Amino acid sequence: MSGESEHSPPSGYEVYQAALRHARFMAIALIASILFVLIVERMAGHSSAAFGIAIVGLVIANARMLSFNCPHCGKNLFFRGIFVVPWPNAVCGRCGTDLHDPRGE
Ligand SMILES: [Zn+2]
Repeated sequence: MSGESEHSPPSGYEVYQAALRHARFMAIALIASILFVLIVERMAGHSSAAFGIAIVGLVIANARMLSFNCPHCGKNLFFRGIFVVPWPNAVCGRCGTDLHDPRGE
């Protein structure tokens, strides 16, 4: 609220909080998908179609992950080097910005 009418990029803290919400959402979506496949398996006797639907749904839902990037250097919060993890970095792995501190820039 400092009179910034221009589009200002989100702070690292805001990106980190949004990434955490996304991580929680994906954890719930994963559990729901597993339950969905198990229920279809039990009711229909086969689950390959349900499994395919669940995987496609998870991949589409997880595509948002790519938008959670460090505002300083652009590194994705979910990447650790070449690896992708389901939980965001609290400290940027490339530039060291503390994304967990709300008073950080
Ligand atoms: Zn960074």
